[in-house]
Amino acid sequence: MNTPAAEIDPTLEELRIAALVRQAPLEFARVVYGLNDRANGRAGTMAAEEVARTLRQGTPVTRERAEQRARAYLPVAGQEHCPRCWVFNGIKSPLQYREATDERPETGACKICGAEYATSLD
Ligand SMILES: [Zn+2]
Repeated sequence: MNTPAAEIDPTLEELRIAALVRQAPLEFARVVYGLNDRANGRAGTMAAEEVARTLRQGTPVTRERAEQRARAYLPVAGQEHCPRCWVFNGIKSPLQYREATDERPETGACKICGAEYATSLD
């Protein structure tokens, strides 16, 4: 039986998409932590500050919305958008990719929120 080549040797695009899709549930978890931290008077945590930043932009942050968006996160090859901006804010911020070097894997960076996502198999 022939195995499609893509399964043996995934393209960079496929690796990018797979790495980003794994981030969406983590960003949802950050929303939950952030909401809990705020509710418990810990407004200074990074997750709480992400929630506060989103609220300042006029977007309500709820667990339900974030969960729905995390499930619906579907980056498109060549037009990858930031999982954090999507899950927190429902906006599609383009990621800008930087080539891998000997020291680190390729990373996609978001200019809107500052998140960086490495493209790697781990
Ligand atoms: Zn972002």
